[in-house]
Amino acid sequence: MKFTGKNVLVTGSSRGIGAEIAKVLAGYGLKVWINYRSGAEAADKVKAEIKAAGGEAAVIGFDVSDEEAFTSGIKAIVDADGELSYLVNNAGITNDKLAMRMKMDDFTSVIDANLKSCFIGCRESIKTMSKKKFGAVVNVASIVGEMGNPGQTNYAASKGGVIAMSKSFAKEGAPRNIRFNTVTPGFIVTEMTDKLKDEVKAEYAKNIPLARMGDPKEVAEAVAFLLSDSSSYITGETLKVNGGLLV
Ligand code: NAP
Repeated sequence: MKFTGKNVLVTGSSRGIGAEIAKVLAGYGLKVWINYRSGAEAADKVKAEIKAAGGEAAVIGFDVSDEEAFTSGIKAIVDADGELSYLVNNAGITNDKLAMRMKMDDFTSVIDANLKSCFIGCRESIKTMSKKKFGAVVNVASIVGEMGNPGQTNYAASKGGVIAMSKSFAKEGAPRNIRFNTVTPGFIVTEMTDKLKDEVKAEYAKNIPLARMGDPKEVAEAVAFLLSDSSSYITGETLKVNGGLLV
């Protein structure tokens, strides 16, 4: 795959899907900015792995739900590299509870980490990418934003919001040659899904036509495609990466 741009910020790339996206994009020749909130050591490890494989990477820590921190982070990248070509809004959290037991803070903390963060990233990208009249953003939502899930009213609302918001950003970005797309992973093997009980995972796997959970690399390659020149006529799209769980 070819990339016209030169650098990318991947939020929440100290582990899980984000770390794999960072490694895959570095493998395609992009300079990758690895972001984390608390896992500085894990982020340094991802950077070391990318460098050992001959890629270029830098680490930048900030909390994506903090407007000032995220905005300053993007500014620091543009100051260092002269531009931000691509953004992957990947950072996200869960805080599962049945709705009747869900406190307001359980709800808003997930909305802030998953949806507000994505708005900040998309808004700041469109501002800076407009100057070059080039850019692409991929937002990592979830199958749960498409079909709902018991215990995840907060998470479903945040990810459904990401899907809808991306389409509006796509319409605002198109006249500026900036594309916005979304991926909706199904059940992927990471620390986020490690929290699930084995019997719950087995039950999920039974309903997946490809009969297994996904590998983070399988999400990363879909993200790479949506950033690359190979998808130059695709914007406002939602690409399911779920083994056929929702067809
Ligand atoms: P994960 O293993 O829990 O990793 C989450 C990453 O996000 C970590 O690097 C974490 O950094 C970072 N992060 C969390 N909150 C942050 C914040 N406020 N600011 C900056 N970084 C933050 O999660 P994952 O499974 O890889 O999920 C990645 C994305 O895919 C999420 O948006 C998730 O909702 C989505 N997704 C996952 C699945 C799945 O099955 N795993 C399915 C569908 C969608 P620290 O460690 O430093 O906090």
